[in-house]
Amino acid sequence: MKIIMLGAPGAGKGTQAKMIAEKYGVPHISTGDIFRANIKNGTDLGMEAKKYMDQGLLVPDELTVKILLDRVAQEDCKNGYVLDGFPRTIPQAEVLDRALSEIGDQIDFAINVDVPDENIVKRMGGRRACLSCGATYHIEHVPPKTEGICDVCGASLVLRDDDKPETVGNRLEVYHKQTQPLIDFYQAKGILKTVDGTVDMKDVFASIVAVLS
Ligand code: ADP
Ligand code: AMP
Repeated sequence: MKIIMLGAPGAGKGTQAKMIAEKYGVPHISTGDIFRANIKNGTDLGMEAKKYMDQGLLVPDELTVKILLDRVAQEDCKNGYVLDGFPRTIPQAEVLDRALSEIGDQIDFAINVDVPDENIVKRMGGRRACLSCGATYHIEHVPPKTEGICDVCGASLVLRDDDKPETVGNRLEVYHKQTQPLIDFYQAKGILKTVDGTVDMKDVFASIVAVLS
């Protein structure tokens, strides 16, 4: 099963993608996580991506597409995957489509986690991330057992630079301009499924499972 998660930054794509990955036994692939791992390791790719990420802008398609196509070509992806944060532009979606159709394959579902902008600002301010293992928390909705410490690996939690209020506005603007058109793109293909992302995360997941079964 090949699934794409759509939605504004902070809509809960990553939260749901991890649950889907666990239930259906497919890898969760987040281009944002791949970039952050590269930033942490000080790679050239990481340094280049950081320039854009810190401003709330998208990393250029040339860089992003190659990373994603390399990742989905790996052995663990042969039975499917959940893409979280990719595609974010129409050209990215077209490249993915082409790469899949060359091997006689296609995306099965594009799940749009729908959350209005006013809820997003709150969500992002409360998000805390572990840059070591990629776990995500929320200070109110999903607090870690010990404040500021990752339950999974014990590393310190941070407020991502791009979750600071001054950057969130930019990210939403970029989302509406560059990423939201993907909703129509996948609607036209007949694989778009929209779920209400404002409810409790377990209820969001239940709606997604209903759509997938
Ligand atoms: P995205 O991957 O779309 O950027 P995340 O999954 O990281 O979003 O979620 C953003 C923040 O909102 C996180 O702090 C997460 O714990 C919290 N969150 C996710 N889903 C919900 C929900 N249904 N209700 C409340 N908070 C949520
Ligand atoms: P995320 O973790 O999905 O919120 O992504 C964090 C940041 O990484 C985004 O704001 C972008 O700067 C960058 N990024 C992640 N995925 C992509 C993508 N598919 N295309 C361009 N930039 C991306």
